[in-house]
Amino acid sequence: MKDKEYIVFDPRDFIRSPFWTCPKCGATDSFGVLMICANHYVRRCKNCRFDDSFSLPKLNKKILYIDQMAISNMMKALNPATKAYQKGTVDNFWFEMFEKLDTLVKLQVLICPDSCSHMDESILSAFYQPLKRMYELLSHGVSFYDSQTIKRFQIINHVEKYISGKSAEIDLDIHRIVHGNINDWQDRFIISVSSNIGEELIDEIREHREKAHEQFVEIAKYWQSCKDKSFQDFFETEAKAFGETNIQVYLRFNERIAYLAKNPDKIMSPLEFMPPDAVVLINEIASHFIKAGVSESEGLVQAFKYLTSPSMRDIPFIKISSMLYAALARKYVSGRKKPPNQGMFTDIETISLLLPYCDAMFIDNECHGYLQENPLKESINYNARTFCQNTKKEFFEYLDKIFSDISPEHISKVQEVYGSDWPQPYTSLYK
Ligand SMILES: [Zn+2]
Repeated sequence: MKDKEYIVFDPRDFIRSPFWTCPKCGATDSFGVLMICANHYVRRCKNCRFDDSFSLPKLNKKILYIDQMAISNMMKALNPATKAYQKGTVDNFWFEMFEKLDTLVKLQVLICPDSCSHMDESILSAFYQPLKRMYELLSHGVSFYDSQTIKRFQIINHVEKYISGKSAEIDLDIHRIVHGNINDWQDRFIISVSSNIGEELIDEIREHREKAHEQFVEIAKYWQSCKDKSFQDFFETEAKAFGETNIQVYLRFNERIAYLAKNPDKIMSPLEFMPPDAVVLINEIASHFIKAGVSESEGLVQAFKYLTSPSMRDIPFIKISSMLYAALARKYVSGRKKPPNQGMFTDIETISLLLPYCDAMFIDNECHGYLQENPLKESINYNARTFCQNTKKEFFEYLDKIFSDISPEHISKVQEVYGSDWPQPYTSLYK
């Protein structure tokens, strides 16, 4: 066993500038910042340990989602360990983008929440830790829930309205689907949980990604042969797919369980009895019908009916992803030969899931292009703006506007809490 290790520190090290004169003992330059909490901060005197708490104004941060490609490029722009940095081939745009984002995040007016797709894609890279460092610096611990949870959240919200016959909007409050508090004043330190990721998990993610891509390539080939199909046809097919797939998985699972009940010698692992996401979801949907007054058996019938109903296409993630797939499909109908790239599947997943919750999203050129085509442009009418490399100028104008809208009172509050040099971008992150 390893000997115990001790870290010795002076509690006064936690008291940071900017320092004031202590109101209790009168020592100059000794009353510094001890900690920054959600909406107040605490000062302590280095000399007499006198504490006082100061309230902080409410924040209203803009929410910007940055896709993995941008995270990766910003990392390369700053990280001397990467080949791209050494060769000097990284477009300066990414460096400037980092400077602007980091400054706005530090000024407490912007947050760039991270997501499971950041993690899944970073894990596959040889630069996992530096990538994680980058997205955590900009997210400050605010992370979207995993995609299954967000989907479930939208569906359950929708099914409640479907049962009550109301056509009210789906609840798209971002605060319900993230870990961490967006509008907290952030502490200077980022607490990062670093877990050892096993090779098995990495292989699983890689395999899943490759399989999804292979299937996508096959679907694209099929689209090429659909000469008589319209955008609307593709949209309808895609919108139905979610409910149909879930029902299939549900039925297959129950068949298997019934078979195993009769043939216990065929059980290979207790994991066979673990219900897949689709089963959990369908049971939850059925329980909402049962709660509304139908019998147990009728609950399941109603759940299936609901999942195959046209109203499913009103659910934001189904609507957006179906439209993006349909936009891509019509490119293949009109002659596109190039297969979809490896990241396309994840890009469509991420955009369709997170777009309605954001003020803006920085995404890849291709998906951005589809969102500008009709009927997408008119139908995907959430408040989020989208940007990409092709719209660099507009993106920087957007960020500069956030900066110029900051009030002088807010700037002086930030300086009071963090010091005047604080908003300087952390470009030496990897040095
Ligand atoms: Zn004092």
